[in-house]
Amino acid sequence: MIDLNQSIQYIKGVGPQRATLLQKLNIYTLEDLITYFPREYEDRSNPKKIMQLIDGEEALIEAVVISKVTEIKVRKNMIIEKLIARDETGSCIISWFNQKYLKGKFEVGEKYNFFGKVSVKYGKVEILNPVFDKEETSQNTGKIIPIYPSTYSLPQGTIRRAIENGLSIVEGKLEETLPTYLLEEYHLLDLNTAIKQIHFPDDFKEYKRARTRLVFEELLGMQLALLNLKQENTQNEGIEFSKKVKMSELINKLPFNLTKAQLRVLEEIDNDMESPHSMNRLLQGDVGSGKTIVAMIAAYKAVKSGYQVAIMAPTAILASQHLESFESILNQFGIRCELLISSITKKKKIELLGRLQNGEIDILIGTHAMLEENVIFKNLGLVVTDEQHRFGVKQRATISNKGQNPDIIAMSATPIPRTLALILYGDLDISIIDELPPNRKKIETFAVTKEMTERVNTFVKKQIDEGRQAYIVCPLVEENEELGLKSVIELEEKYKNETFSNYKVAYLHGKMKAKEKDEIMEQFKNGEIQILISTTVIEVGVNVPNASIMVVENAERFGLAQLHQLRGRVGRGEYQSYCILKFEGNGKTTKERMKVMCQTNDGFIISEKDLELRGSGDFFGTEQHGIPEFKIANLFEDMGTLKKVQKIAMEIMADDPLLEKEKNIKLSGEAIQIPRSKQDTGGKFSLFSIFHKK
Ligand code: ADP
Ligand code: MG
Repeated sequence: MIDLNQSIQYIKGVGPQRATLLQKLNIYTLEDLITYFPREYEDRSNPKKIMQLIDGEEALIEAVVISKVTEIKVRKNMIIEKLIARDETGSCIISWFNQKYLKGKFEVGEKYNFFGKVSVKYGKVEILNPVFDKEETSQNTGKIIPIYPSTYSLPQGTIRRAIENGLSIVEGKLEETLPTYLLEEYHLLDLNTAIKQIHFPDDFKEYKRARTRLVFEELLGMQLALLNLKQENTQNEGIEFSKKVKMSELINKLPFNLTKAQLRVLEEIDNDMESPHSMNRLLQGDVGSGKTIVAMIAAYKAVKSGYQVAIMAPTAILASQHLESFESILNQFGIRCELLISSITKKKKIELLGRLQNGEIDILIGTHAMLEENVIFKNLGLVVTDEQHRFGVKQRATISNKGQNPDIIAMSATPIPRTLALILYGDLDISIIDELPPNRKKIETFAVTKEMTERVNTFVKKQIDEGRQAYIVCPLVEENEELGLKSVIELEEKYKNETFSNYKVAYLHGKMKAKEKDEIMEQFKNGEIQILISTTVIEVGVNVPNASIMVVENAERFGLAQLHQLRGRVGRGEYQSYCILKFEGNGKTTKERMKVMCQTNDGFIISEKDLELRGSGDFFGTEQHGIPEFKIANLFEDMGTLKKVQKIAMEIMADDPLLEKEKNIKLSGEAIQIPRSKQDTGGKFSLFSIFHKK
């Protein structure tokens, strides 16, 4: 048996110094090394003739060296080494910068392979900085060469050699990780071949087969792990809330009718609450779709069944807003709500914690402050987290552990396509509110270029003169000259002193203290500020119904899902609202993205488009989504495989829920912790479930 956990340090060609460098890439063990996959490949397998070379391409030639290396000193510290080589179609110059050691490297009259960038100027062919080999010993050329994600201090050649040596240790000896029946049914390459071919493919067809197998395995492992977790969760003995408490008691008292989607979701929640195992449900719905009222109705049921409820929001403003809406409806039922945020006085806090522990508070609404150890419930039965992606797995566990298997509702306003929801939240049940309350005014969205700035400003002024308020959003805090991004502060100065000098302007950004931010938001809410310039910090659930216009600077810098979230800050009151996207650049994708924003207000359509136009790297790169890092799969490219694998995973679990059948033994690896948000560091998803079997 080979020890996949052995340190890379002792692998041939590594040693302590290189080991340190490799560790910077998160490569510690032999397993890490052989599962460190290439970022791309260079085809150095098809030699071209000198006459065929095209300016700008990277190409491989086989040519005889016909001159010695000559050195030309261009200036201090800059020497160019040149030689001339030829094949039967012509000759070319081969040149390098500052590679003194090359002087004695070539023998005139011998044949070499060169691979590098081609320059053709006035019929003169040159190959710049090529890698090269003597014909017989091709190390760097003559094949498909993997290019690894790397750092400056770690050359490709070093990584490549380390991996080559790592592979020679495991060659043919890796234990297969997928059951034979899956390999056969889906025509998948065996693990040993796949690992070898993914690094050093014989040709691109083999590479494809290798990749297909590894992606299949990674996604299947992940999906099975999630389903496993889900199963464990539902097996937990939970609370049975009273069947006698009817949600309709509250629903009938509401000033509006619930939408069909809200009613459907409530039925799902009601069933879960009355069942004996614990609920673990993700409630997804676009901004303004009415998630809060759904949470409130569930809370009502919990309280009337004799339990306490915790509602956790990521910011003090949001928590206060929730308190307001909860009290306005629940007070008439004698339900006692309280707010716990870090800014309340010590005296008030002590008093509040005492009542919480005695059961004199029914619903506690708050921020992270609720996670503290001294926050003790008498009998916590339901936990609701709002904007759940802002909390880490640990934080959610902490709040849940304040009760005995309480039911859980995690709310999210970031719509994601269902297939992806299954990856992100496969361990949860998912409820979707896919309908907005009636009579919502569509937010009119316009995409404009720089030339329109004057007109936009005039429009903003007109809105404010009518009594409304405006948001102006820009992408970054610091000036970044290179990209020409506008800084909030600079913009504020300009807007405050010039453009909108007759109006009350303030700014808000992520680097401010939470207290400062809250104060400014409060002033904006109260109408004391007319124009709020900010970064994306206003993204989360803030409700200022009087704000009717949003201008987004450099809108091309935002993801669509993020723009959609931002836009949701307006259109929350009775006024017709507007979103103006100022964009720069002429790219086709930019234009298409702007067009999508102008055409639809449907978050699900937008998120599908976002994924399509940006690819999953960027889509999930924002902190709106906590997606596990994949070693090889790419959720956009591999959507087909993902769908297939989700189906397979469900079939396997339906047939063998505990993965104890002989044929599935290989799949029953240890459950893996899946990081869900930026707060969840570590716990990286491992590619090979079997390597982690206890
Ligand atoms: P979300 O949290 O999903 O963004 P909210 O719960 O804050 O949305 O709801 C937005 C607004 O719509 C609130 O003022 C709420 O009272 C109202 N609302 C919710 N459901 C309905 C409905 N069915 N009909 C009319 N208004 C509703
Ligand atoms: Mg909300």
